[in-house]
Amino acid sequence: MKPSIVWFRDDLRTTDNPALRAAADDGGAVALYVLDEESPGIRPLGGASRWWLHHSLLTLREDLAALAVPLVLRRGPAAEIVRETATAMGSGSLYWNRRYGEAERMLDAGIKAWARGSGMHAESFQASLLHEPWAVTTKQGGPFKVFTPFWRTVSGLDFREPLEAPEPGRGYSGRLPQSEELDTWGLLPRNPDWSAGLSEVWEPGSAQAHELLDTFVEHGLVDYPVNRDRPDLPGSSRLSPFLRWGQLSPFEVWHAQQRRRRELGEGAAVFASELGWREFCWHQYFHHPDLATANLRPGFDHYPWAWPGSQGAGSHDSASSAGAREAESQEAESQEAATLLRAWQEGRTGFPLVDAGQRQLWHTGWMHNRVRMVSASLLVKNLGIHWQVGEQWFWDTLVDADPASNPANWQWVAGSGADASPFFRIFNPETQAAKFDPHGSYVGQWIPELGTPDYPEPVVDLKASRREALDAYGSLPR
Ligand code: FAD
Repeated sequence: MKPSIVWFRDDLRTTDNPALRAAADDGGAVALYVLDEESPGIRPLGGASRWWLHHSLLTLREDLAALAVPLVLRRGPAAEIVRETATAMGSGSLYWNRRYGEAERMLDAGIKAWARGSGMHAESFQASLLHEPWAVTTKQGGPFKVFTPFWRTVSGLDFREPLEAPEPGRGYSGRLPQSEELDTWGLLPRNPDWSAGLSEVWEPGSAQAHELLDTFVEHGLVDYPVNRDRPDLPGSSRLSPFLRWGQLSPFEVWHAQQRRRRELGEGAAVFASELGWREFCWHQYFHHPDLATANLRPGFDHYPWAWPGSQGAGSHDSASSAGAREAESQEAESQEAATLLRAWQEGRTGFPLVDAGQRQLWHTGWMHNRVRMVSASLLVKNLGIHWQVGEQWFWDTLVDADPASNPANWQWVAGSGADASPFFRIFNPETQAAKFDPHGSYVGQWIPELGTPDYPEPVVDLKASRREALDAYGSLPR
């Protein structure tokens, strides 16, 4: 019997996994995971994501072993590794669930063409999104730019029921290609190991994902519309890293809330529309592969955002004294931005809600959505630092760092994105704290020195910096 390969990517689960089901149905399924940090256009994972991936692969290996499916781990350029593995095993079929980034799609298309050309059966499936981004268009036939009509269209589609995990098979009895040792991949932080806080909060894997989903649907969904904005309460689902890594499929989450829809009405609908935002972010990313590096609204290319340190600082090679003076002032500006950025990253801005959020992020790899918005707004609008700098920090520190949701939300906060928050909506971290952390328990939990002389004074004047931001926005070309 020729083995079938199921190539795992951002779908580290055995339930609702159509690619795994197809390979298991063929018999002799072998799972492959490739850590690809080399192929052109693939964004290297951040530190928190690497930690999550390490632990997820351990649990995936166990989940697959229960189905008699071995997991082969390889590192290198995916096209090469998949070809090499399939050829070495003489496999008859190759399956995967689709991914939607441009570089990934190109790579997958190349492998599919090669496999089919070599006489193999190669097939991909929809599993990570409720909609295929190319299949849903506006009346004019283009991509959606506004959330409400997008979600009206997508939520009206018929979403298939999730699939069960395959039954344990007889297993592949042939020779397996050499699998690499996970420990040699260096995914875990060392010197220093900053991951203790992450381990306290998360158990990456499908088991914790399903447990969280069940508990949330049973107890959290009913009050979700009110509690989701409260960082001091366990009001939201905390499913984001599991959705990011595919330990839970959006179909599983959709149908879980749907089962309580009639009973809970609004609670379930509001939650479902957050899944809609995830879909909308991927819709944008599919149509704008440069979402993390280019303003969706090009007018924002002229906004005078600062780049900390040497990033983006002006040219230093001018011989004229005017040029030298300009270079000096740019240098000073970027140094000041670097100091402000550090205070923001370390949770020392003097704005308790922002500082609590940044510390929660550093400690646990996750931050509450309301606080993400307030913190991002402070960085981009009051501290005047480019949204891409904040996006990169979140990319490195979030366990749910997502190639679509992260840049799309940063652009939403900055005002440069699709259906973005209007630029003049500049969150005031003090009034936001009073409203959404009314008893101060969230800030108290993360800032033990709050109210003592050890806690810093605000690094920026909210009123003056707001005015400056609005003036800069006002002078953008229309
Ligand atoms: P819930 O409120 O329970 O929502 C359920 C699910 O819906 C989430 O798990 C998530 O998958 C999805 N979702 C909810 N809100 C959004 C949203 N605004 N955009 C996209 N999907 C959403 N989310 C990520 O998954 N990865 C990121 O890298 C990311 N970066 C962000 C950066 C900024 C600046 C901001 C403002 C938001 C970002 N978000 C990101 C969105 C949101 O903050 C998180 O999805 C949410 O906090 C996760 O918590 P939860 O699972 O409890 O969400």
